[in-house]
Amino acid sequence: MSNKLNEVLVKQRTAFNLNPNSSWNERKDKLMKLGKAINENEGKFQHAISEDFGNRSFVETTVAEVTIIHGAIKHALKHTPKWMRTRKAPTAMQFKPATNRIVPQPLGVIGIISPWNYPLQLAVMPLIGALGAGNRIMIKPSEYTPRLSSLLKSVLGEIFSEDEVYVAVGGVEVAQEFSSLPFDHLLFTGSTNVGRIVAGAAAKNLTPVTLELGGKSPTIIDDSANEKLAVARITNGKLVNAGQTCVSPDYLLMPQGKIDGFADALIKQAETFYPTFAGNKDYTSIIADSHYARLQGLLEDAEIKGAKIRTAGNDDTQVMAQERRIPLTVVTNTTPDMKIMQEEIFGPLLPIVASETLESSMEYVQERDRPLALYWFGEDKTKRDHVLKNSISGGVSINETVWHVVQEDIPFGGVGPSGMGGYHGAHGFETFSHMKGVFFQSKFSGGKMLYPPYSDKTQKVLGLMKKFM
Ligand code: NAD
Repeated sequence: MSNKLNEVLVKQRTAFNLNPNSSWNERKDKLMKLGKAINENEGKFQHAISEDFGNRSFVETTVAEVTIIHGAIKHALKHTPKWMRTRKAPTAMQFKPATNRIVPQPLGVIGIISPWNYPLQLAVMPLIGALGAGNRIMIKPSEYTPRLSSLLKSVLGEIFSEDEVYVAVGGVEVAQEFSSLPFDHLLFTGSTNVGRIVAGAAAKNLTPVTLELGGKSPTIIDDSANEKLAVARITNGKLVNAGQTCVSPDYLLMPQGKIDGFADALIKQAETFYPTFAGNKDYTSIIADSHYARLQGLLEDAEIKGAKIRTAGNDDTQVMAQERRIPLTVVTNTTPDMKIMQEEIFGPLLPIVASETLESSMEYVQERDRPLALYWFGEDKTKRDHVLKNSISGGVSINETVWHVVQEDIPFGGVGPSGMGGYHGAHGFETFSHMKGVFFQSKFSGGKMLYPPYSDKTQKVLGLMKKFM
C-alpha cells in the first residue's frame, strides 16, 4: 500500500474530525474557487483532452464538460443551503408530542474514481456534490488521459490543500490501492467489469459505493416518430465524442421495412454534420489503439456473420487509421450472436435490430441487462407511457438522446448491471451525506406505560396502540 495515499487519507480524516460539519460559507468558498479555476483553465483543459484523445473537438469539451460543470456549480450554490437544513419529519400518533428531524451530515472522506471518456466532467461532477455536502475528497482519474489527469491535479492542487481535495494520478496499480482505502463513500465511474472489482474491494472495508457503470442503451423508434428529427438527434447523440459516451445510443430497434431508409438517412445526416471525418477538428478520435482495434474487431465479426455495413463519408482509410478515427458506421442484418450485439460498443458503430412491434422491442430490452439509458422516439403518448412503465433503465430521454444526463434536477445513475445509486443536484448531496434521523422525546411521553413489569394494564395499552397505529 502506497504510503502517500494512506497519508493523505489520514490527513483528510483528521482535518474532517476537527471540523465535521463545515458551514455553508466554507462550502460556498470551495465551490466558487472550483468554478473560477475551471473557467480560467478552460483552454488548457481543451488542449490537454484533445492531445490525450489524438483529437477532441474543443466545442465538445466546452459543451460536454465545462458548461455542465458550471451548471452544476451554479445549481449547488443556489440550492445547497436549503439541502443542508435540518428537515422536519412527521411523528406517528402514538409517539406524539415527540418530534422527528432529519439532519444531513457530511460523511467524511469521499473517494472518486473516474474514466477517460469525459475525463474532466466525470471527476469534477461528483466532486461538486461531495464538496457541497461538506466532505474531504480524494480523486483517481484515468490513466488513459495522462495530460488531463496531471493538469487536474495541478489545477485542484493550487486551490485546495491536500487535506481538502487530493488527486492521485497513476495506472491500474494505483487504482487498485485507491479502491482498497477505507473511504466513507466511494463513487466509481467506469465499466461494469471493473465496477465489480471495485465493489469487491470496497466491501472489505464496508465502504458504501455508488457505481456509475455502462452497458448497451437501446433506442426504440416507434411508428409514430418524426423520423427526420429522430435521425438528427440520434446521429448527434451517437457521434458526440465519437460514440465514446456511457449513454450513447448503442443500438436501434425498429420495423424491418423501415430499416434501410433510416440507415441511409443516418449516414446522410452524419455526412452533413461532418463533411469529412479525417482531419476534421470537430470529430473526435478513438482514445487508444486498443479501443480502435476492438471496434474494428466488432465490425469484422458482424460482417463475417452476415451483417450489412454502411459507412459515412469517403475518407482515406489509411489517414483515418493514423488518426484513430472511425466514421458513423451503421450495421444492419444484425443477429444476436454478433459480438456487436453482446457488448457495449462505446464507439461510432450503430447496429439496427429488426423489431416489428412495441411488444417485441420491449421483450428484447427486458431480456437483457438493465441499461444505463433508454431512448424512445414517437408521438403516441399511450405507447410512450407503456414503455416508461414497463422498462427499467437508469434514465430515459424521450424524443432525444443523452440530454437527460445533464439535468441537475433529476437523479443520474444506473440500475443493476448499469450501476448502483445516483448523483447530480440534490441526489448528489444526499449520496455524499448521512441523512441522520433524530427523535426528540417530549417531557410527556406515553413510553412509561410500557415499562416492565408487564401486566394487564400493559396489554390494554398495547391493544390501544394497535388500534391507532
Ligand atoms: P474502466 O472501468 O476501465 O476504468 C475506470 C477507472 O477505473 C479508471 O480510473 C481506472 O484507472 C480504474 N481502474 C481500472 N482497473 C481498476 C481496478 N482493478 N481496480 C480499481 N480501479 C480500476 O472504464 P473506462 O474504460 O475508463 O471507461 C469506459 C466505461 O465507463 C464504459 O463502460 C462506460 O459506459 C463507463 N462510463 C460510465 C459512466 C456513467 O456515468 N455511468 C460515464 C462514463 C463512462
